[in-house]
Amino acid sequence: MDLFDKLKEGLLCPVCADIYKNPLNVRQCLHKFCLNCIEDYNRIYKKECPGCRAVIGSRRQLRKDECLQSLISSLITNTDKFNELENLRRQSHIKTDWMRRKNDIKTMLSKNLTRLIQQ
Ligand SMILES: [Zn+2]
Ligand SMILES: [Zn+2]
Repeated sequence: MDLFDKLKEGLLCPVCADIYKNPLNVRQCLHKFCLNCIEDYNRIYKKECPGCRAVIGSRRQLRKDECLQSLISSLITNTDKFNELENLRRQSHIKTDWMRRKNDIKTMLSKNLTRLIQQ
């Protein structure tokens, strides 16, 4: 893992697993989420922090994380594009894994077949 990968780990929102977009801090626990992620979670699911279940009574308990936002913008110029590429990369990982698995199964089958024929 290179330095950027390590850094990137710290820039991922625990809800959407993408790079933070408009990151917010929960005042009580300082957990961070994207603005949209925490708002959706609070509206659709529960008014609590998805990280530690601290109750979020009102929006005033969410504070913009300017510091994190500026760190992200200095590292990544286009967050949307970056997330898109990352998702593609993740998908292609899954794909190659599956291809490898399929090939493994094929070789296993053909080995068994040859053994059967030779018996
Ligand atoms: Zn998010
Ligand atoms: Zn929390």
